Amino acid sequence: MMNNVQLVQGRWIFTGDDTIENGAIAIQDDTILEVGNWDSLKAKYPQAEVHGSSQFAVFPGLINAHHHSNGVPNSLQGIDDDFLELWLFSNIALRSQDPTLKTLLSAAALLQSGVTTVLDVCTISGTPEAGQAELKGRLQAYEQAGMRVALTPGANYSSFLVHGDGEDEAFLSSLPAPLRQQVQALTLLEQTLSPEDYLEVISDLVISYQSHPHISVWFGPPGPQWVTDKLLVKIAETAERLNTGVQTHAVESFYEKLAGPRCYGKSVVAHLHDLGVLSPRFSIAHGVWLSEEDIQILAETGASVSHNPSSNLRLRAGVAPLNQMLQAGVTVGLGMDGTTIGDDEDMFAEMRLAARLHRTPQLNLPAPTFTDILQVATQGSAKLLMQPTLGKLAPGYKADLVLVKCDRITWPWVSPEANPLHLMLMRTRAGDVDTVLVNGKVVLQEGQPTGFDLQAIGQAVAEQLEASPNHEQYYALAKDLRPHLARWYGNWEVPTLEPYAAFNTRG
Ligand SMILES: [Zn+2]
Repeated sequence: MMNNVQLVQGRWIFTGDDTIENGAIAIQDDTILEVGNWDSLKAKYPQAEVHGSSQFAVFPGLINAHHHSNGVPNSLQGIDDDFLELWLFSNIALRSQDPTLKTLLSAAALLQSGVTTVLDVCTISGTPEAGQAELKGRLQAYEQAGMRVALTPGANYSSFLVHGDGEDEAFLSSLPAPLRQQVQALTLLEQTLSPEDYLEVISDLVISYQSHPHISVWFGPPGPQWVTDKLLVKIAETAERLNTGVQTHAVESFYEKLAGPRCYGKSVVAHLHDLGVLSPRFSIAHGVWLSEEDIQILAETGASVSHNPSSNLRLRAGVAPLNQMLQAGVTVGLGMDGTTIGDDEDMFAEMRLAARLHRTPQLNLPAPTFTDILQVATQGSAKLLMQPTLGKLAPGYKADLVLVKCDRITWPWVSPEANPLHLMLMRTRAGDVDTVLVNGKVVLQEGQPTGFDLQAIGQAVAEQLEASPNHEQYYALAKDLRPHLARWYGNWEVPTLEPYAAFNTRG
């Protein structure tokens, strides 16, 4: 008789390879033991604790391949969506939130939409001690939530205002004197954490979490234009030596695409390739403006992409060439970037958006299926995260799974001809997620996190924000600077480009 066996029962079990009706999963400790028929597994493990019932659908844990734990989001903080470059500056108006509280708030939303693993990108600055304290706060949140994470911290070293080496000075001198002085007075124009200290702080954390059951630490240089080439190379080398990963934002906006030829005389991806940093442990977030050559480079080097369709729409970045990436064999995961179309961090809605956004309007051209998109959000993201035992429900895989309540979804009737996976991906919302297991432990029950009191966390964050000093002057400054940033990028010469719409019509 085996100990510690738990059973998960489902009307439908979506393993990642197929659908099992009236199925069950046997879990021992943190690992999936068997996947099969409910009656036979129940007979085999009669004493096992049971999660779910014939009213549930069971999915592999969804994997959010690019995220920022924003806590109380920009919308509630009065910051509107905009072009990436203009929006980034408007974030100076964000009030600061306790790192543990805001991470718990975000982790709750992710668990409530079936996300069991997240790559959480953040930035640090100031003294090494301040950076460590910030990161420890975030890591503590993931301990408490029981969620699987690759915490991916970075630090900015250049292009604080506009893209390109030395361009900040040029931009500043283009501003009227009073505005220039206000911008110069901001601390955001400098980085007091040295690159050496950054590398040391992160390396120490990578090492201390190396054998943790659900937390790992990665390197997160914010973007090629925000760090020096030298640091980027050093980061890639260190990640290789410590056997961890690197993720960076790249070719997200149209202006980031233009920045390639302006800064490097070639595309950003070609530049990364020349630096020798691209490998299966290196991923880029967004990749909206990848060219066919860039896609080829990614496929050949094994570097992967987190596709973030909601965020790309919200920040006017465009539509990424998902079909071309998949066809070329690039590893692609799905990310929500803390910036989803409904501002709800709903991974089911994100899968739906991805599934619909990339259906080409011509019959002979590609259109991803729900199966393809679920694969991106599970196995694709798992590969990006270098986690070969995540993303599927199969023996030997980690017991990360999601139980979705079917009552609302299947009400009032389902045809026996309906494809269960299609109907579930068509209709599931975050609110239908009932139970989530990570490493065989229940981390969400009846839609509520088991590791912390979400209501109390929300209350504490609200009190903190309410008591924080007024940021009126930052909102005003962002508003004043906006037309100048818009003018700056508006003056960039736009070469003849293949319009991104071309991606939608190419086979
Ligand atoms: Zn991001």
